[in-house]
Amino acid sequence: MSLMKEILSFNGDFVKQGEYKEFVTDKYPEKHLAIVSCMDARMLDLLPRALGLKNGDAKLIKNAGALVTHPWGSVMRSILVAIYEMKVKEIMVIGHHDCGMQRLHGPDLLDQMRAHGIKDENISMLENAGIDLNTWLTGFAHVEDAIRHSVNIIRKHPLLPADIKVHGLVIHPTTGKLTTIVNGDEISS
Ligand SMILES: [Zn+2]
Repeated sequence: MSLMKEILSFNGDFVKQGEYKEFVTDKYPEKHLAIVSCMDARMLDLLPRALGLKNGDAKLIKNAGALVTHPWGSVMRSILVAIYEMKVKEIMVIGHHDCGMQRLHGPDLLDQMRAHGIKDENISMLENAGIDLNTWLTGFAHVEDAIRHSVNIIRKHPLLPADIKVHGLVIHPTTGKLTTIVNGDEISS
């Protein structure tokens, strides 16, 4: 059975048997919290469980590396929507040890793309158009630095209200243990 069929079949039963009822909540996060975290599959359930969060408690924004790379990118826009439309008061950037974005190397990724049939001419066309693919496809060396950088982009954003707390943490992808990198409770804005 294809994955698509498998999931649709499960979903049919899930809805029919009313299994969704335990998840019913509204769109405003109960803890007034938005989290930026990594898409790593190990944290699908682990992250909310390790933080004691249940359905409806928080907004969860995910990408590769838990990165806020640009003040005008979609992650920052999601954070602003969460604040202004969903009554969010605190932001947590939660990166993790052993992240795929750690030591991600642009040239290696470009080689992988070539191996999957992406033509050199496409790559050089983009580079000629001024897109720095190597930088765009390169991750970070230290997760703590990446978290501090993302926290700073959020904190210094000109559209961020002064009363919003921004925290930075690292989660262990096996044990779920959190380590604080930036404690927004201790920073006066
Ligand atoms: Zn990751």
